[in-house]
Amino acid sequence: MPNFSLDDDVFVRAAEQFPTPFHLYDEQGIRGRARRLKAAFAWCEGFREYFAVKALPNPSILRIMKEEGCGLDCSSATELTLAEACGFSGEEIILSANAMPPEEYAQARRLGAYINLDDLSDIDLLRKNGGIPPTVCLRYNPGGTFSIGNTIMGNPGEAKYGFTLPQLKEGLAVLKSEGVTAFGLHAFLASNTIDPAYFPGLSELLMTLGRDLAAEFGLKFAFVDLSGGISIPYRPDEVETDLEAVGEGVRKVYEKVFPEGGVGIKTELGRWMTGPCGWLVTHAVHEKKIYRDYIGVDASAVNLMRPAMYGAYHHVSVCGKRDWPADHVYDITGSLCENNDKFAWERALPEITLGDLLLIHDTGAHGSAMGYNYNGRLRGAEVLYTEQGDYRLIRRAETAADYFATLDVDPAYAKISPKR
Ligand SMILES: *Cc1c(COP(=O)(O)O)cnc(C)c1O
Repeated sequence: MPNFSLDDDVFVRAAEQFPTPFHLYDEQGIRGRARRLKAAFAWCEGFREYFAVKALPNPSILRIMKEEGCGLDCSSATELTLAEACGFSGEEIILSANAMPPEEYAQARRLGAYINLDDLSDIDLLRKNGGIPPTVCLRYNPGGTFSIGNTIMGNPGEAKYGFTLPQLKEGLAVLKSEGVTAFGLHAFLASNTIDPAYFPGLSELLMTLGRDLAAEFGLKFAFVDLSGGISIPYRPDEVETDLEAVGEGVRKVYEKVFPEGGVGIKTELGRWMTGPCGWLVTHAVHEKKIYRDYIGVDASAVNLMRPAMYGAYHHVSVCGKRDWPADHVYDITGSLCENNDKFAWERALPEITLGDLLLIHDTGAHGSAMGYNYNGRLRGAEVLYTEQGDYRLIRRAETAADYFATLDVDPAYAKISPKR
């Protein structure tokens, strides 16, 4: 079931202060989830969550993560810059490499971050850009399909990420000869799963492999990085992942493979951490009846791309009409000249009147962050609903001046830049 923890009134009051569309994030909800994750893994001394910055790259959110004891998982120069500006350093940062510009290794090494290598060729790049630290992480891709029991969880054989097993061995031999003494193993083999068996299954794979490689190469196995991938109930008929069962499942594997302990566990959850704690708040501004009934809203796919990109389901509710019967069927659309610019297709909803405030649920991860500017549409604001119950603007809406800023090389710039 999507998250209905905030009353409609919270959104109505926010929309009196800030023009729609905007994303609203619930601080208390985010902190609650960070604490719940920490509690589920409290049995492991070396546990830490590294929030995936790409899910919600807003410094106010990243500082909340820091206060909750989380680190950050970064994968670009700008994400590293955000991490540094929010006071993260050293072992609080992981850089996950992925065909990235080499100078980003140097930036991460300057910060003392863990480096998660994606390929054999990364070893040379790292050596030349910041140098090889004594502990490195390697991303594993087992190929084929990844199954737990009879359930296929993912298709690593088609994924661009990671080392094959022979490459892991070759890499560890090279790294050892360059002074590496300890390593971690990372894998991301199922994205967007609510199955509580995923992390325990992945742990079994990575922990036994890490233990065996450590023995073979005479290196210390420092940690497993289970990465992200745990999803949230986007649909009303989906259930929340039993995170406590996930923690217990990983514990059983850990105690079997490492009876002496001493190996750390890292996670890089993005969606699970903040997804349910965000809502895209938008007004119904247009109504049209042709072969279907359409409600046009003032948000579009530039504010939330997931439905347009993946056909992803996001729950929609109408403020003040929670208890009304869902006896109308609408397509909810944005204003882009793209027929996939819809937030819902043939969705049963209460009768919508122009001016109604609509909530698009579960936009706290991979929502605003995936924004773009097609059709010259501008990205909206981000508002934090604080623990004290007030509203803080944590990213302003884009203006035309922002949109035109990169045209400062054009002779027409003086005419189109409203600032000049
Ligand atoms: C995207 C990503 C994550 C977060 O994924 P979620 O599905 O949001 O949990 C974590 N680690 C890496 C390396 C990623 O690319």
